[in-house]
Amino acid sequence: MTVILPGATLGVMGGGQLGRMFVHAAQRLGYFTAVLDPDPASPAGLVSHYHVKTGYLDQDGLAQLMQRSGAITTEFENVPAPALATLGAHRPVAPGPDAVAIAQDRAQEKAHFIRCAVPCAPHAVLESAADLERVPEHLLPGILKTSRLGYDGKGQLRVATREELARAWDELKNVPCVLEQLLPLAAECSVIVARSHEGAMVHLPAQWNLHRGGILAVTQAGTGALPDATAALAIHASRAIADGLRYVGVLCVEFFLLQDGSLVVNEMAPRPHNSGHYSMDACDVSQFELQVRTLAGLPLVQPRLHSPAIMLNLLGDLWFTGGAEAPPPWEQVLALPGVHLHLYGKLGARPGRKMGHLTVTGATSDEVRATALQAAAVLGIEPF
Ligand code: ADP
Ligand code: MG
Repeated sequence: MTVILPGATLGVMGGGQLGRMFVHAAQRLGYFTAVLDPDPASPAGLVSHYHVKTGYLDQDGLAQLMQRSGAITTEFENVPAPALATLGAHRPVAPGPDAVAIAQDRAQEKAHFIRCAVPCAPHAVLESAADLERVPEHLLPGILKTSRLGYDGKGQLRVATREELARAWDELKNVPCVLEQLLPLAAECSVIVARSHEGAMVHLPAQWNLHRGGILAVTQAGTGALPDATAALAIHASRAIADGLRYVGVLCVEFFLLQDGSLVVNEMAPRPHNSGHYSMDACDVSQFELQVRTLAGLPLVQPRLHSPAIMLNLLGDLWFTGGAEAPPPWEQVLALPGVHLHLYGKLGARPGRKMGHLTVTGATSDEVRATALQAAAVLGIEPF
């Protein structure tokens, strides 16, 4: 593709925090930015040069975004496929509609993992009541997940018996689902890869993730985060998955490390990911700069982690630790060396809402961990 040089405008579908951090990275490189999001107070819309405030399928809004933008990316995986198809007919769009369609659907996603010879959880695709009858015994106990539109643990239920499975399928409104065997997890990890139009690939180091209540809580990168062999395997698998999709852009692949030491792929996100946020402070090229580079056709260079890092997610719950709503004591957190605070400019705190994150960097993994635990204590985040 022809390179889109700084000075041009890059567009993004979606105005959440991932869009905001993309906009910041693009602007730092000298690009103008355009965001499409119906919310007038969306985190990315608030900081972008242009903000098209229409629905994602609004033809007029899509036309405005295209008119402004030399190329367009997305910041959430549930961008309607017809919108991407419309944009893709007139502008370079990365990631492409085909890859996004696969990542939007757990059944298709798992089929892709199998095609790439990367092991995933034993599972069955459930589309009708008859499929429930045919579920093999070894998938129970399991987790029933809607094929589409699930995130942060939403749209999934744990089931131990066939009766619970039938009830859960009703509770999820009988939409197409995937039933996965409940696996004995030792840990979770993920890898961010970036792939160019020409097929060049770079990646961040694999990172260790801790989820609480289905939402990412803590990420660690650097020495001691993961066994070397696990990290190498996860990176190899992620590159195969991106290559198999002929993916263009930033892709996050999430894995389970099982108690027997084996690695199983969980899911992928066709965009930068919460577990890669540490790269803004701990790598010389962040996941958002990788998104800009892949979109604009700029060279991809291998990012280097220059500090061990721990990322803590800042959920809306932290605004309510004293009962009434009040902002957390940022001044106490910022007094700790190596703490980098990122807040997304969201107007209302709600339990479970991602309001920001902080990254701790430092000379050694031990030092980073000690500071991260201090920050967690100040904020009322459970130790990890
Ligand atoms: P989401 O799209 O909401 O992130 P995931 O499929 O990643 O959904 O599931 C959320 C979390 O639930 C995972 O990070 C993991 O902790 C747990 N989980 C999901 N699937 C399984 C499984 N098959 N076995 C054990 N734990 C699981
Ligand atoms: Mg997940």
